[in-house]
Amino acid sequence: MRYLKPYFYDSFVCTGGSCPDTCCADWQIMIDEDSLDRYGNEPGEFGKILRNSIDWEEECFYQNDHRCAFLNNENLCDIYRVLGADALCDTCRLYPRHTEEYEGLRELSLSFSCPEATKIILSCKEPIRFLEEETDEEDDFEEFDFMMFSRLEDTRDILFAVLQDRSLSLTLRMAVAEQLAEQFQICMEEQREFDIDDLLRCCRSHQKENTLHVFVSKCLSGKGVNAASLHQWEQQKKELQVLRGLERLRPEWNQILDGAEKWLYQEGREKYQHVCEGFHRMYGALSSHKAEWENLGEQLLMSFVYTYFCGAVYDDMVCSKMELALFSVRWIQEFLIVRWLENGKTLSMQDVEEITWRYAREIEHSDNNLNALEDWLFENYAPEGCILEKTCDE
Ligand code: SF4
Repeated sequence: MRYLKPYFYDSFVCTGGSCPDTCCADWQIMIDEDSLDRYGNEPGEFGKILRNSIDWEEECFYQNDHRCAFLNNENLCDIYRVLGADALCDTCRLYPRHTEEYEGLRELSLSFSCPEATKIILSCKEPIRFLEEETDEEDDFEEFDFMMFSRLEDTRDILFAVLQDRSLSLTLRMAVAEQLAEQFQICMEEQREFDIDDLLRCCRSHQKENTLHVFVSKCLSGKGVNAASLHQWEQQKKELQVLRGLERLRPEWNQILDGAEKWLYQEGREKYQHVCEGFHRMYGALSSHKAEWENLGEQLLMSFVYTYFCGAVYDDMVCSKMELALFSVRWIQEFLIVRWLENGKTLSMQDVEEITWRYAREIEHSDNNLNALEDWLFENYAPEGCILEKTCDE
């Protein structure tokens, strides 16, 4: 088995009681079979408490006021405190570590929904590198489209090279990434998979010759919406309604959505563009913080593309995997503008981290939300003629 992980993966350590949030509230914490067995047989007084705090039918911990029954007043876990780290169930032991499984390959990542993981990822200044390891383990996939997967992996390598090319503006990198994924999708829909190698060669040679802007305009689709372009009033307003229609995990998320409505969209397009420009002159792409701003976008995009892009091997929705990454970066940036306005035009790294993990908790950490959003992106941003394979529960 091959393992791939970002170079910072092993440096994660839970900050426990110092965490600005907790991962033990608002989510149903599912318990694996081995842990259920152990909890069922735990002796003594604590064993009794354990057994009474588990929903044995749903196989999860009960919650008190949206908090795990074992989360104490110091925001520490009583199972960990009394029985030690070995007694944690898989969910608690592994979080925020995430695994994507492919035949012969496991890709490990840290989830943005954890504040400490977000801090580690967003504080990277150098381009993210991935480390590879090999073990003797074997998996038992019955069906796996290896050809498709290796095309996706090759495409992702090119996407990484473009997204980490700091000689290019972030918006150009995003536009190239979007067009590459879209052209991949078109090749698949038209059953011209053999053209994908040419597409990748073409993109690579444009990058070498410093002419990627030509690659974008050459491939530009007729859909009239370029998801890489930031701050398009109509598009953002439409997408805000999509965000509002998703399942809500935390009440605080409503305040963030209401804040966007109140501060950005109520007073029309011109006012909105004026605000965005003001932000970019102070903190963003037009300011002396440009390199930091673009680094932030790069690390977010790299993480989203690394985690999700190759998952298209299971549903063929290549372009919506890319659109999801672009959408996420655009919206995190949009919410940062709101935070900047709410703060009286200042913004700290803590704000950036908080908006990122709050976004991830609501969108990325809910399968329902992630699938619904991906379906919407496919329906609205995929090249014409593409067929949607529903991923969300009907
Ligand atoms: S969210 Fe992350 S840092 Fe916070 S308690 Fe959970 S694992 Fe630890």
